Amino acid sequence: MKKYLKEKPSFGLILVLVIFIALVYVGTILFLKMSSNELRNDIKRNLNEISSQNVNILKTKIEKDIALVDSVAYIASEQENVNNETVRNYINEIESVNPDVKIYVADSKGNGVDENGNKFNISNKDFFLAANRADIQDRTVQITDQAYFSVTGPSIIYIRTIIKLEFYRAGIVMAVFPTDVYDDYMETQFYNGEGYSYIIKSTGEAVSAKFHPEAAVEINNKFGFSDSQAFKSIKGLENLSAELAAGSRGIMTYELTGEDKYLCYDPIGVNDWYLLSVIPESVADSALSSIVIRSLILSTVIIIAFTAFYMWVIIFRSKKRREIKKYAYEDILTGVNNWTYMVQYSKKLIDTGTSYAFVVFDINRFKLINDIYGYNYGDTLLKNVATTMTRYIDENEVISRISGDIFAMLLRFTSESELTTRLEKIFKEICGTEQKKMDQNATYKMTFSCGVCPIDDKALSITAAMDRANMAKNIAKGYYLGNIAFYNEKIKRNMVEEQEIENSMNRAITNEEFEVYLQPQYKLNTETISGAEALIRWNHPQKGLLSPGRFIPIFENNGFIVKLDYYVFEHVCKKLREWLDEGKPPISIAVNMSRHHIMEEKFVKNLVDIANKYKIQTSNLEIELTENIFFENQDAIVSVMSQLKDAGFKLSMDDFGSGYSSLNLLTEIPVDVIKIDREFFKAFETNIKSKKVVSMVIKLVRDLKMKVIAEGVETIEQVLFLKAIECDIVQGYYFAKPMPLDQFEKLAYGDGKSEKNVIDISNEEITQIQ
Ligand code: C2E
Ligand code: CA
Ligand code: CA
Repeated sequence: MKKYLKEKPSFGLILVLVIFIALVYVGTILFLKMSSNELRNDIKRNLNEISSQNVNILKTKIEKDIALVDSVAYIASEQENVNNETVRNYINEIESVNPDVKIYVADSKGNGVDENGNKFNISNKDFFLAANRADIQDRTVQITDQAYFSVTGPSIIYIRTIIKLEFYRAGIVMAVFPTDVYDDYMETQFYNGEGYSYIIKSTGEAVSAKFHPEAAVEINNKFGFSDSQAFKSIKGLENLSAELAAGSRGIMTYELTGEDKYLCYDPIGVNDWYLLSVIPESVADSALSSIVIRSLILSTVIIIAFTAFYMWVIIFRSKKRREIKKYAYEDILTGVNNWTYMVQYSKKLIDTGTSYAFVVFDINRFKLINDIYGYNYGDTLLKNVATTMTRYIDENEVISRISGDIFAMLLRFTSESELTTRLEKIFKEICGTEQKKMDQNATYKMTFSCGVCPIDDKALSITAAMDRANMAKNIAKGYYLGNIAFYNEKIKRNMVEEQEIENSMNRAITNEEFEVYLQPQYKLNTETISGAEALIRWNHPQKGLLSPGRFIPIFENNGFIVKLDYYVFEHVCKKLREWLDEGKPPISIAVNMSRHHIMEEKFVKNLVDIANKYKIQTSNLEIELTENIFFENQDAIVSVMSQLKDAGFKLSMDDFGSGYSSLNLLTEIPVDVIKIDREFFKAFETNIKSKKVVSMVIKLVRDLKMKVIAEGVETIEQVLFLKAIECDIVQGYYFAKPMPLDQFEKLAYGDGKSEKNVIDISNEEITQIQ
């Protein structure tokens, strides 16, 4: 994976997640806390409610039972003998309807008969004595648990005095109810058996007997109901005995056998009886725990859902980011890094302190591959180059494609020889493999040009390193054998000089440091001067006389050439004016114009204005455009040329034959003069063919009614040959080198010493200006 595609886990994102989870849990805990309080209050309310209901039920039942006893007492009070048949029958009837109750009657002496026919006497029983003592008008029923009869289990006994004639105590009625009956009547158990009720006296003794097991434990082991002081020993019940004695009602919380319980004490309203209802706090907890479980499940589900969503967002986002980065940092065609990435990543690598070299390379004449094998193959070749290179570079090195067939690399650097060997090996492998694929057409031989800039200054920017490596690469292109060049002192000096030239160019033009030289052109048949070409020189105050080769390419690059061309053009016009004013015959002078003028809107007008300013006929001025510009925008060039022609200028095509000119071009453009490049003549000695080509071209040009100027003619052989093939005009060192204006003036207009060089005034095309 590429380094830029790696993502550091974001601390912020993780923090958000952690905070969210914490919030959900804290929220849940708060909710549970509130719920738990709410639940406890709920349970207390319910306990209160249950207690009230049970007390009501008990009251009703007791009232009903008392009414039952009362009715027996009433029947008995009407009888002579309280134990007679009528009373017995009535009791049997009642007992058949209420199977739990047993009713007994005793006469005023305490004698009675039980259900088995056995006689009994209760005259010594407390309740009997109490009944005899009681006020005759007192209608209260005695209730006791004093066991007398063979009834199983604890019972409640209601005792009613039988009163005759409103003043005579005839005996008592006793109704014996097992306490079970009451327990069954009310709801003694609730909350699934967790809660329970039982009846006690205010003194703490138990009344009802069918107890909940827990209640039994309380009563038997702890409360010690015979002793109300026992309440005091139970945490939370310290005040209970006082409350019961006062007949109050309320709820208490106490702790018994390690368990917290709620207790509701509620007076029944019969004797001093109390209904106690108990719920262990754990009931609330078990209700709560189901809420806890549910809320935990809910919060966990929320967290999982949120986390999943969050992760999805993060993954989606980082995927998107990776995609964006991929587009931002990757070269789509080859899949290696692009320049943007190279700049960023190289800086990081260099900062680690390792020694690096910046390497730029391209495939020589790559355009030909596209032309010969097609663009698809061209693309594949670039991809193969990228893949092979990637295989050969280490982890802490980087490769990128800059554009077209130009690649850049940052490689570890130990020495020039080590890096050269390494690069040559890689280039050799790539060229070997690819050359095999292209073998069907051996015209193309694949080679690389490579420039290296060792990074000795860590502060050097990547773009600067790139510029330097590029300069070295351009030098490598000129090498005959090797194809790798290192940026060195010489290149550095050139660069410095280039900078100096740029810095002083404006000053130079103001100070007129540029000087126009003229190189005469000779008519071959007469060997007289027919015109001249203006060539610029720079009298540099520090560097001395500079030839155009030193500065023209720089001015071509920075556009300053436009200004300089007008400068030359104007100086030429000015000189021509001077000569005319001195009565010298007019002469045609050619001025070089850079390709930059083609895109200039007022180019032709500017030239015409200058010519007019010095009153020079445009037909005495020749504009030279180099053949190479025809590679560019042909339509624009043809249009500019026609305008120049219309304005009356002569037009010449410079350096013909140096580029890829087609002869066809000659038929399409309106030029007057073709200047044959001196490269043509250079090959004369060795190449017979080139002579043939030159003669053919000259013949063709003449047929098209254009003039031919042979440039760079240096030898007598060349002159003889050109004469033989009837070339019109010759410009070269053989006749004269470019020279300062005054020197030219002497040469052209004569100082009376030489006949040969005197200007050919028979030239019918030269126009005399008045
Ligand atoms: P060019 O336009 O092809 O000019 C002819 C060059 O050939 C001149 O070089 C000239 O000195 C040289 N030359 C002439 N005869 C011979 C010969 O027999 N042997 C050899 N070896 N060289 C010969 P120069 O003056 O150094 O100019 C170089 C180039 O600079 C020119 O090539 C032209 O392209 C450019 N240049 C010069 N002055 C100007 C200018 O004012 N404006 C523009 N745009 N370009 C200019
Ligand atoms: Ca020229
Ligand atoms: Ca030329």
